[in-house]
Amino acid sequence: MRILVWFRNDLRIHDHQPLTQAMKQGDQMIPIYCFDPRQFGETRFGFPKTGAHRARFLLESVADLRQSFKTCNSNLVIRRGQPETIIPELVKQLDIDAVYWHEEVTTEERAIEQALESKLEQLGTQVETFWGATLYHPDNLPFELSQLPEVFTQFRKAVEKNSSIDVSLGAPERLPSLPQLEAGVLPTLEDLGLEPPIHDGRSVLQFKGGTRTGMERLDDYFFASDCLKDYKQTRNGLLGANYSSKFSPWLALGCLSPRYIFEAVQRYETERVRNNSTYWLVFELLWRDYFRFVCAKHGDRVFYPSGLRGLPVEWKQDWDRFDLWRRGETGFPLVDANMRELTASGFMSNRGRQNVASFLTKNLGIDWRMGAEWFESQLVDYDVCSNYGNWNYTAGVGNDARGFRYFNIPKQAKDYDPDGDYVKHWLPELAQVPAKKVHEPWKLQDVEQKRFGVRLGIDYPNPVVDLQKSVEANEKIYTAALDR
Ligand SMILES: Cc1cc2nc3c(=O)[nH]c(=O)nc-3n(C[C@H](O)[C@H](O)[C@H](O)COP(=O)(O)OP(=O)(O)OC[C@H]3O[C@@H](n4cnc5c(N)ncnc54)[C@H](O)[C@@H]3O)c2cc1C
Repeated sequence: MRILVWFRNDLRIHDHQPLTQAMKQGDQMIPIYCFDPRQFGETRFGFPKTGAHRARFLLESVADLRQSFKTCNSNLVIRRGQPETIIPELVKQLDIDAVYWHEEVTTEERAIEQALESKLEQLGTQVETFWGATLYHPDNLPFELSQLPEVFTQFRKAVEKNSSIDVSLGAPERLPSLPQLEAGVLPTLEDLGLEPPIHDGRSVLQFKGGTRTGMERLDDYFFASDCLKDYKQTRNGLLGANYSSKFSPWLALGCLSPRYIFEAVQRYETERVRNNSTYWLVFELLWRDYFRFVCAKHGDRVFYPSGLRGLPVEWKQDWDRFDLWRRGETGFPLVDANMRELTASGFMSNRGRQNVASFLTKNLGIDWRMGAEWFESQLVDYDVCSNYGNWNYTAGVGNDARGFRYFNIPKQAKDYDPDGDYVKHWLPELAQVPAKKVHEPWKLQDVEQKRFGVRLGIDYPNPVVDLQKSVEANEKIYTAALDR
């Protein structure tokens, strides 16, 4: 039996059920990856759908996957075009009996799967889809997906008590060689219409795609640098490689499976220490699971302006202010530093993401989907469920939204960047401002501005809004939606 395995956000050969199944059932296995031009078009608000940082990470990951197949005596077939056109053509050309893949849960991805499935059905080709993106398999959940709790804590407690995580599947060592066919060339960034991003030395990490580099990062963070034991205390950091794991880009493209990470945590607990930090890393992976299950349960709703909760907030589409936010020119150093980090490096800490998302929606009252799409465009770790799920939460339209909650930006800045090191890292124009003044530059007197080498409104912007007045105004808009 000849089986084709279609790769998408599962760019690995370990813990890959479609591959394992194809090896069991087929005497020939053909792995394929398609660079779909739709992924390199524009989002609804007109941003590049895949920005250069993630595109490069993707190219590196596909190259690494190809290398893994070559090491096993096979090769990855690479094509450019729509999978629902390319795969049926290949099926006909090579007389393929079955096509296997990992299923996705959100609109665009499912539409492609459905289009492919119906074409394969017409050809009489067998199709089998598998679930492979989460720690917990839906079959092991103590409830049907349709009964998924709407509150994360309920979900977590239920799975921790009544479910278990399956052991990961090993990687093949040897595979049947490919039949006679053109393997295809890996495109370049230029082929995809993108300029190579310039590496900014201030980035937290030089992210490089692929399972190999993902495993290296895991070994370094857990074992060589021994950071896992302190993760719970450091995870809210803003600066440097090791305040958090930085596994997210490898997880988003499936270069690492969450079960592989889970098993490494178990090994660390046996060999080193088991404490609330080792627990907390798995706890965070549960958030990731949860958002995927939420999307599977609620379908399109995660993309509605009214969100999972269906709250008809009157969001603004104020492009002038949005552009200030996007460029990191709002006059609030914590927001600006994070937004500049995002465009320069493709990454932002979780603490940063929560603050900038809160600022956009609660201070500027801007349509959260514009922010979500900008993140989609820029993030090296963009994951549709985690991104849109988190944006729903911070915009106050998530499934367990608890009313109008917002982050007090100067307070957050003082709590998480007490010495101002982070904002100075990304905003060199504030380098000479003393720590206790750097988070509120609008309070600097003229003589202080002169002394610290920064002119407000010239070197660094004046604040775009009054923090207090803007949250009050936006709370009214939010509350009006609750009353509707
Ligand atoms: C507005 C907003 C948008 C976000 N968009 C994305 C996104 O597109 N892709 C993405 O992977 N994460 C997203 N996150 C979640 C989180 O910020 C990142 O997963 C995290 O910062 C990645 O860094 P890390 O790998 O060092 O995380 P760690 O703190 O080391 O956590 C380990 C892993 O747990 C998972 N995780 C941690 N926190 C969350 C969370 N809140 N939600 C879901 N999973 C989590 C990630 O897979 C992460 O790699 C978003 C958060 C917010 C507030």
